[in-house]
Amino acid sequence: MSTVSVRSLSRTPPPPVNAAARLELLEFYLVHHEDIARCAHASLEWLARHAQVRRSVCLAVDAESGMLVGIAGYGVANEHVELFSWPLADTGDPLVATLSSAEPSVFRSPRANGHARLTPTTPLGAGAFVAMPLRGARTRDVDALGLLLMRAGTPITPDISWLVTVLGQKIEQIRGRGSVTEEARKLRRERALFFTIINSVTDPILLTDTEGRLIVANARAEKLFAAAEEANEGRRRAVELNNMLFSAALSRTVVETPSEARELLLVDPGDGSDLLFEVLSSTVEEPREGTGVVSVLRNITDLRRATEQVEENYQKLRMAEGAVRAERDRLNLIIDSVADPIIVTDPSGATVLMNAPAEELFTAPPDAAPVVLRGVQSNDAHFSSFISGLLLGESGPGEIRRGEIALMNPVAGTPIPVEAIAGKVLSESGELTAVVTILHDRREALERARLFEQLKVGADELQMRVQAATAELATQNELLRRQAIELEQASRLKSQFLANMSHEFRTPLNAILGYTHMLLQGVAGELPPNIKRQLQRIDSNGRHLLTIINEILDLTRIEAGKMPMQVSEFDLNELVPEVMAELDAVIARSRLSVRAALSPEPPILRSDRQKVKQIVVNLLSNALKFTHRGVIEVALRLGKEGRQVSISVTDTGIGISPEHHENIFEDFRQVDDSPSRQYGGTGLGLAICRRLAHALGGRIMLHSVVGKGSTFTLTIPVDAPQ
Ligand code: ADP
Repeated sequence: MSTVSVRSLSRTPPPPVNAAARLELLEFYLVHHEDIARCAHASLEWLARHAQVRRSVCLAVDAESGMLVGIAGYGVANEHVELFSWPLADTGDPLVATLSSAEPSVFRSPRANGHARLTPTTPLGAGAFVAMPLRGARTRDVDALGLLLMRAGTPITPDISWLVTVLGQKIEQIRGRGSVTEEARKLRRERALFFTIINSVTDPILLTDTEGRLIVANARAEKLFAAAEEANEGRRRAVELNNMLFSAALSRTVVETPSEARELLLVDPGDGSDLLFEVLSSTVEEPREGTGVVSVLRNITDLRRATEQVEENYQKLRMAEGAVRAERDRLNLIIDSVADPIIVTDPSGATVLMNAPAEELFTAPPDAAPVVLRGVQSNDAHFSSFISGLLLGESGPGEIRRGEIALMNPVAGTPIPVEAIAGKVLSESGELTAVVTILHDRREALERARLFEQLKVGADELQMRVQAATAELATQNELLRRQAIELEQASRLKSQFLANMSHEFRTPLNAILGYTHMLLQGVAGELPPNIKRQLQRIDSNGRHLLTIINEILDLTRIEAGKMPMQVSEFDLNELVPEVMAELDAVIARSRLSVRAALSPEPPILRSDRQKVKQIVVNLLSNALKFTHRGVIEVALRLGKEGRQVSISVTDTGIGISPEHHENIFEDFRQVDDSPSRQYGGTGLGLAICRRLAHALGGRIMLHSVVGKGSTFTLTIPVDAPQ
C-alpha cells in the first residue's frame, strides 16, 4: 500500500494556547466523534498546531488480540503506524512495561545506551523518544489504554498533559462501546481502499483546507509536494517551490473562479524540468472536517508541447504556402517575360498555363473571323499531337523531347515553323504532374541556314577558283622551270661555243704570230724597213687579238667550271718580283717608277699560285695603262693573326669616278666605252679578276680619286678554301 502523509503547507508559528483551542478540539472531535483513530488523529494534529509537536504516534491496547497497535501518526509514514503491533504478553518489553507505569518513560537511542532491546522500533523511527501512558478516569490505577509517543526532549507542557488526559478518557469512553480492533480494522480497510483508489489515479490529487494546508495527497501529488528529510537539497527546494506555487494558485482559484481550470507551472523534483498542469479545484463541505479544497492536477506538458508543435507546424505550413505562392508568381513573371511561347499542360494534355506569345497562337476571341479560328484550331491540333506523342512515350524526369511543329500565325495566315522543346515535371513520388513546352520560332534559324548555305556555295566557288589559279600557277612554274633549264643549256652551249671558237681562233693566230716572228727575225733575209714596220704592226695586233681571245677563253672556262683550284705552297714575296719581271718591257716603255713594298715576314700562302699571279698581272697592267706619270707601287701586307694577306697596286693615274667603282667589275665594262676611246682593252680583265678572287676565297676593293690615282687591293686567305 502506498503512503499518505499529513503535513502543514504553511509554516506560520502556532498561536499561543488558549482555552478556545482546547474547546475547539473537545467540541469538534472528541465530543462528536466515536472513532478512536479519528480522535487520535485530531489530537496529534492539535498537538502539532498548538504544542509544536511535529512528530507523534498514538498506540492503543487491543485486548482482544492481546496486542499493542498503532492507530494514528503525525509527521511519520502512515504505513509504519498501521503496520505497528506488539504482543502485550511480552512484559519484558520496556514499551509494554510503560503501560503499567504511572510516569512517562524515556527511551534512548541504541547507540547512546548500547542496548538495542531497550529501544523498540516504533513508527517514530530510530532515535530517543518519550512514551506517555494514556489512561481513562476509571482505569487510573490499572494498566494504561494506550501510549502517546513523541521525540525525546519534547518539553511536557500543560497542554500536552491536558491532551494526554483528555485523549485517555475519550479512548476509555469509546472502548466502553465497542472493540477498538474491529473499529480499527474497518477503518483500515476503508483507508486502504481509499488510498488504492486515489493512488491509482495518474493525476496528482490533493485535499487542502481553506488555508492551503495539505490534508490528503495521492502518490503522484506526494512526488511533487513532499520530500523526505533525507532527500537532497535540490529535491527539497523543488518541493518547497511547488508548494508555494500551488498555494498561490489555490488562493487565487478559491477567490476568483473555483470551478475553472487554471494552468500551473511546477518543477519536477526528480530532474528539475518544467511541468505544466491544469488545476481543477472544487471546494467540498464536510460536516466534521469543515471546508476543504480538492484539486486535481492534469499534466498538460506534453499536450502543450504538442499544441506548440502543431502551432509551429501550422506556421511552417503558412510560410511554405507563402513561398509556393511567391514561387508561382515568380514563375508566372518568368513565363510572361519570355518572348518564346510557353505552354504548361496537365498529364491529360489539357492546357493549364500559357504566356502571352502562346496565347497569340492558340487562342482567339469568340468574335474572331472564321479563318482566324481555323488557324487556332489547326495550331491546337498540331500541338496536341506533339504532346500526346510525348505523353505516350517513355521518358525520365530530366529528359527533354524535341520536335518540329508546323504552326501558323492565325491572324496573318503566315506559316511559323517552330521547334518544340518539352520536359516532363514529375512529383517526388515520380508521378507526372505537368509538361512544360517551349516553342522556338525557327524562321530566323532557317533564314540563317539559307544564308549559310549560300555562303557555303560562294566559298566553294571561291575555293574552286583558287584551285584553278593554283593549278595555272603550277603550270606556269613548270614552264618557267623548263625555260630556266633551256636557258641554262643555252648558256652552257654559248660558253662551249665561245671556248671552241676561241680555241679555233688561237691556233691560226699563233701560226700567224709565229710566222711574223720568224720573218722579223730574218728567216727570209733582211727585210726592207717599211716591210719590217708593217710586219711589226701585224705582230702587235695579233698579240692584242690573242689577249682578247685568252681573256674570253678564261671567262668561259670559269663559267663552265673548268678552272679548278690547284693549291700549292708559295712565298708571295717571290711572286711579286716575278710579275714585275714579266711586265718588264711594258714598264720600261712607260718610263714610270714601279716599285714593290714586300712584307718583312715571308707571306707563305697555300693557294692557287697561277690565279694569284694572273690577278696581280692584270692589276699592274691596268695601272701601267692608265698612268702617264708618277709612281706605281705593289705592296704586300700580312693581316692580323697571319690569316689573310693583301696585295695592293697603287698608281698616280687618271683615277675612276665613284659611279664607275662598281660597274667596272662587270663583263665588258669600261669607263670610256666610246668607239673613239683612248685606251685599248676588252673590259673583261677586272671581271675575270673578281671571279678568280672569289674562287680563292677573297675579294677586290677599290679606292680611287679622279685625276689623282687608284688603289686596287686583293685580299685573300693564307689558306685557300678547298
Ligand atoms: P680593260 O682594261 O681591258 O678595258 P678592265 O676590266 O681591266 O678592262 O678594266 C675596265 C676599265 O676600268 C677600264 O677600261 C678602265 O676604264 C678602268 N680602269 C681599270 N684599271 C684602272 C686604273 N688603274 N686607272 C684608271 N682606270 C682603270
